[in-house]
Amino acid sequence: MKSLWSDEQAKKLKGVQVVVYASRLIGENTNLVVWGGGNSSIKSDGYDHMGRKIRILWIKGSGSDMKTITEKQFCPLRLDELLPLYHREEMTDEEMVAYQAKCSLEPSAPKASIETLLHAFIPAPHVYHTHADAICALTDTSDSARLIPRVFGKRVMVVPYFRPGFKLSKKVGEALRGNPGIEALILDKHGLITWGNQAKEAYLKTIELNTIAEKYIRSKMKKKSAPGRSAAKPAGSKSDAKRRQEALVPLLPVIRGEVSGNQKMVLLVDDRPSVLAFVNAKAAPKLSQVGPFTPDHLMHVKPKPLFLEPVLPLIGEKKLLKEKVHQAFEKYRREYQDYFEKYKSPNVTMLDPNPRVILIPELGMVTTGKDIKAASIARDIYLHTIEVVQMAAAIDEFSFLSKKEICDFEYWPMENYKLTLLPPEKEFSRCVVLVTGGARGIGKSMCEEFLREGANVIMADVDLPRLEQAREEFKNEVSSGRMTVLKMDVTRPESVEEAYQTAILKYGGIDVVVSNAGFAKSCPVDQLELSDWEKSFLVNATGHFLVARQAVRLFKRQGIGGNLIFISTKNVLAPGKDFGAYSASKAAETQLARVLAIENGEYGIRVNMINPDGVFLDSGLWSKEVRSERAKAHGIALGQVEDFYAKRNILKTKILPEDVARAALFLASDKSAKTTGAIIPVDGGVKEAFPR
Ligand code: ZN
Repeated sequence: MKSLWSDEQAKKLKGVQVVVYASRLIGENTNLVVWGGGNSSIKSDGYDHMGRKIRILWIKGSGSDMKTITEKQFCPLRLDELLPLYHREEMTDEEMVAYQAKCSLEPSAPKASIETLLHAFIPAPHVYHTHADAICALTDTSDSARLIPRVFGKRVMVVPYFRPGFKLSKKVGEALRGNPGIEALILDKHGLITWGNQAKEAYLKTIELNTIAEKYIRSKMKKKSAPGRSAAKPAGSKSDAKRRQEALVPLLPVIRGEVSGNQKMVLLVDDRPSVLAFVNAKAAPKLSQVGPFTPDHLMHVKPKPLFLEPVLPLIGEKKLLKEKVHQAFEKYRREYQDYFEKYKSPNVTMLDPNPRVILIPELGMVTTGKDIKAASIARDIYLHTIEVVQMAAAIDEFSFLSKKEICDFEYWPMENYKLTLLPPEKEFSRCVVLVTGGARGIGKSMCEEFLREGANVIMADVDLPRLEQAREEFKNEVSSGRMTVLKMDVTRPESVEEAYQTAILKYGGIDVVVSNAGFAKSCPVDQLELSDWEKSFLVNATGHFLVARQAVRLFKRQGIGGNLIFISTKNVLAPGKDFGAYSASKAAETQLARVLAIENGEYGIRVNMINPDGVFLDSGLWSKEVRSERAKAHGIALGQVEDFYAKRNILKTKILPEDVARAALFLASDKSAKTTGAIIPVDGGVKEAFPR
């Protein structure tokens, strides 16, 4: 393992800054910790609020991530008030946390780590705790207590497994006092603790011990081909990837439906070669069922993944595939419930019984989460789990905690407390929304509003330059995976199908489709070209049909309802002259939407319409040509068109894209859960166009 330490950078830093620097170096190396795992501390002299000199323990706040940690995420505690606790016989978690809070020097500091006392009871000024892959590969073997001294000699001591808290901290303190010469401690089934007089010393010790562990494991892996890794040639070619994608498209919505029983989940697929080598290995069905490699990961990946039987032979038979997948999930949920009932402590409520990691032979791994970030945390953790499982299996036999210990940790209030630190969920964070004609005007505004409310958004449009512009404008959302910008021509069935496939592969499914793309041509009927009539129907009728047909097929396959929103027009209810092709084709859209509402209510699919009137800002529909044609139809000057439309409504107001977007958010939300087949006008009030 490579050290990332730079004397040049470290020498400029003082006090807590040094531990921030070292923590970030540790966090940067995902073989040491991932996503919020591990912790670090520094003991230093300082002053309290009265100016009295005291000793301070700066400890990482609970739940913060080492990779991005800042000074503010460390909690300063009065060390001399913590140390006497060492002489106590026992302390409950609640007592310990309440006591720690009273030692805080800074009321606005985060809650101190649950492993605070462990750091306090180690005399050295700098202490680092990691869940390092190579170390855990040694601790997660059936004979770890004997194996670890064989690898490290007397330099390192093993502390048997205890759930973090007072008892573990005391055991660590005792181990050090009884063995003053040791250089580090390894917590069985958990991780590594190193220390030093200087930050560099403690950091380098972490690197050195990992390097020793890695070398040992490599020598073992050379001797026997690692169980849990298929020797078959990795399926890395483009055609292999395409074959996997073709199989995943009918499968993922079914999985999404299964895991979204209580609340919707977003899915993430990973089929990198290392994942395929694992899921295709003979030993994987058994190996994968032992557990994560450190208890901290339980809340992200649960006690075990679901290992699906090979589904490739069933891909052509959609109904059978759905049935088989359902049976596998039912079995998993039953087993989880049995485990919970058998090992639970009193007065706890069962968490979601669905898997967070699904392993599928030949196809890869699917992780789930309340949003794309949670799904990627589960993915990152399981990528490391695969490596640790393979390493442990090469040494001996992968072995984790007992089921009782796992259940105690999974339902430990101190661990679940971390979840309460997360920002509250936004209204649409579990939803996937597809907006057609999304790159400008109403569609773009809708993408923005849905993004603001937490949704995963697919912005689809036929206008490539506009899409490129949006990709740049929303680059943060695109790079975080929360937004996908893609080309889609609503008039071509294959293009529509392809867009849905992309969405499925990216998020596992879709919840809301806003069918917005439209086309307008203003011209009296007797002068209208057949091609303009046909184009109006192609976009405004056939386009909506193709988009909606695909949406309903997907919604039914997911089995968790769905929401279709059609952007129609005031013209359907109150047509204007010279707008024959537009009004007639939009009327077809409206009638289609009504029939869809009737046909699909039994599947929990709601279908509603919005009738805007004269939304000019950034509009693709209101091209200069259409504006001048409408000016002519109404007998006004070109520059008066917008005012004309504003003045003719009851509220005398201009209709903006965001007005329409907000109506779409209402229709997509549970606030309108009892509404289907309805039209909401967003037109400032046009009495001729009142829905009736
Ligand atoms: Zn830990």
